[in-house]
Amino acid sequence: MKPLLSIENLAVAYQTDLETVAAVNGISFAIHKGQTLGIVGETGAGKTTTALSILRLLPDRTGIIKSGKIEFEGEDLLTYSERAMRKVRGEKVAMIFQDPMTALNPVIPIGKQIAEALILHNPDGMSRDDIEDRVDASLKMVGISPQRKGDYPHQFSGGMKQRVIIAIALACKPKLIIADEPTTALDVTIQAQVLQMINDLKSELQTAMIMITHDLGIVAQTCDEVAVMYAGEIVEYGMMEDIFDAPVHHPYTVGLFGSIPSLDQDVERLYTIDGLMPDPTNLPVGCKFMDRCPKVMPICQEAPKTYTISGKHQIKCHLFSDIAQSPSDSGKADT
Ligand code: SF4
Repeated sequence: MKPLLSIENLAVAYQTDLETVAAVNGISFAIHKGQTLGIVGETGAGKTTTALSILRLLPDRTGIIKSGKIEFEGEDLLTYSERAMRKVRGEKVAMIFQDPMTALNPVIPIGKQIAEALILHNPDGMSRDDIEDRVDASLKMVGISPQRKGDYPHQFSGGMKQRVIIAIALACKPKLIIADEPTTALDVTIQAQVLQMINDLKSELQTAMIMITHDLGIVAQTCDEVAVMYAGEIVEYGMMEDIFDAPVHHPYTVGLFGSIPSLDQDVERLYTIDGLMPDPTNLPVGCKFMDRCPKVMPICQEAPKTYTISGKHQIKCHLFSDIAQSPSDSGKADT
């Protein structure tokens, strides 16, 4: 089956008069209908830049796609005009942003904000009545009574506002939703409810999803496959079970797991990964994790290849050159 979205060797930089910031450095992955891919990593790993590149929403002038391909339904989005991209955004690919407080317009009732998204994209040439029906259906889908469509954002709690954002994203029935840290601004109990709702809607509508997060707990609850990003690269890729149950991992993934609190262990302080991500204006030639890696070796001065451990499980690290099945130069997650 052909993937819904396929990204090949994508490289993105932010260019100013003074410097070039290498934000994404040659990543590849694919997503099929109904599938959820988690992209996990620290702030600055390149997760949001990847999402903005798919929607071609990088900042004008400074954000530049240096190389690669972004294919959606078999067509290269990088060749699309701005007008054609406007049709893709919202109608075929929708984004849920991190902070519901800023994503909604405070002076427009929520029902009108959903209707505006529909009028802008007007899928299937909808009539006014069709749009009203779809607004009601979208609100119902996220557990909000259509009777509240005349209410303003400030009349909703944080969790309910995020439900409204999700209703806007779902209104046009997109094939792919990109959720960028969708529950970060919410408290833990509301977070669980919103994640459960996202999961239910995804299986009901068979929408594919990219879940961007720094939280492995959210990955465990929502994703089928996982890409671990570090300094603009995918350093480990696999099915959810590969990332959570396999005996071997990239040293960075090991560090991410070490920083999760556990109910079974009584520890005074949580593990942290020492050091900082490398300066993206001056990345090392060798492994980007070199300065923080507890397993660093002399060969790490050279850039590691991506090795297939088994099935879809791939790790970009010299430690696996002997045990891995086959090296791959492209860093491609073969989905
Ligand atoms: Fe650590 Fe070397 Fe592997 Fe990089 S390539 S993660 S420095 S062991």
